[in-house]
Amino acid sequence: MAEIVLEHITKRFPDGSLAVNDFNLDINDGEFVILVGPSGCGKSTTLNMIAGLEDITSGELRIGGQVVNNKSPKDRDIAMVFQSYALYPHMTVRENMGFALKLAKTPPNVINEKVDEAARILDLNQFLDRRPANLSGGQRQRVAMGRAIVRDPAAFLMDEPLSNLDAKLRVQTRTEVSRLQRRLGTTMVYVTHDQVEALTLGDRVAVMRTGVLQQVASPKELYDRPVNLFVAGFIGSPAMNFMAGTLEDGMLRTSLGDFRLSDRLRREVESSGSGREVIVGLRPENFEDVALVSADNRPHGLTFRASIDVLESLGSDVFVYFTRELGRGVNVAELEELARDSGRVDSGTGETVVARLDAATRISEGQDAELWVDTRAMHIFDPASGRNLSLASDGDDRAASVGTASGQADAVQPQTADPDAATATDIRAVPGQAGQAGEAT
Ligand code: ATP
Repeated sequence: MAEIVLEHITKRFPDGSLAVNDFNLDINDGEFVILVGPSGCGKSTTLNMIAGLEDITSGELRIGGQVVNNKSPKDRDIAMVFQSYALYPHMTVRENMGFALKLAKTPPNVINEKVDEAARILDLNQFLDRRPANLSGGQRQRVAMGRAIVRDPAAFLMDEPLSNLDAKLRVQTRTEVSRLQRRLGTTMVYVTHDQVEALTLGDRVAVMRTGVLQQVASPKELYDRPVNLFVAGFIGSPAMNFMAGTLEDGMLRTSLGDFRLSDRLRREVESSGSGREVIVGLRPENFEDVALVSADNRPHGLTFRASIDVLESLGSDVFVYFTRELGRGVNVAELEELARDSGRVDSGTGETVVARLDAATRISEGQDAELWVDTRAMHIFDPASGRNLSLASDGDDRAASVGTASGQADAVQPQTADPDAATATDIRAVPGQAGQAGEAT
């Protein structure tokens, strides 16, 4: 087992393209860390540098306390599992799994023991004499993992190992990978572009964009406290809704309605030096059918009317889609990149707002419905830097090191001790505006 430390790691390819830019990350011994981000953001290049398959242009890489920049892959005591299983077709499962040990001249009885043990962990015992062609995709993938396990490495590096599997098998194998890592307790770095995989698998998730590390945190922290627009839009499905907002005399004016910011948040936004134009972020689950919101809760949010264009009932939840003038301020590069990456046309930059409502809602498609949004959970972003302004700059210091969307190093601390911090906004009824607060607080 080993700790892996990446210090100011940069990769510039011979053609001049900068694939990874000043990447800093401490991966603890036994930790399961996910590298996630859209295609081309530098995840595989980072993993390949850890493996020794790519040279490091600058910076220092340490595995188990030793600088390994110039060590060959075989001297780094790591095992890799790739998307393509790359099994030898003419060898049985047993021979495939034991091949690296055979090359290392390990005695045959030791190889057999290790292969049997790995096969037991991966539930492959009954397939040991089969050839890869006679296995399912999921079984082949397990053989590829078995081949890594028998080497008993200091760390596993996995590059999109599940992406060749169909959706159902993917979910099943995801759970197996997670169980395997906990059982072995071996450091694991796992690359994926799938944010759901990232959130469900890792102890910590490192989100990358255009070669720059954006935020490293636990899945929950990333979801609740994204440091910038990019992370906010990338993590979560359906994605966070974004709309333009204007700050005026302590009020935040949006197309859903206007409300007063808490003193803390107003100070935070003013001291950030950003202008009056901001981007407001609300997750689908922050919305509810107002008829299902208790009188106690209503003052914590904003009530507004919306014409429901589409309603999708999933049994456990209901998704409703409605359109709003989202404003020009939201056409920033991060959001456009996210829309491109996910193949969405309108996404956060368009006009569709997605709301997730309780299954008990009586709202129907085409109805002019009354909805409520919990504005305590609202995020406010600076359109210029993408920084999340609603994260308090006071509080304790547990936040991971982060970069802003523009790639500059920055540190944002979580809101914790400040009792005011729990309430992002303080709703006041504003007569004559699009939205109406329930009761003034
Ligand atoms: P994907 O999910 O699509 O595999 P990724 O995040 O793993 O993407 P990388 O493969 O690390 O991305 O590539 C990062 C960037 O480096 C991309 O812009 C890619 O075009 C570039 N790149 C990768 N290999 C080379 C190379 N050998 N020469 C020049 N540029 C390269």
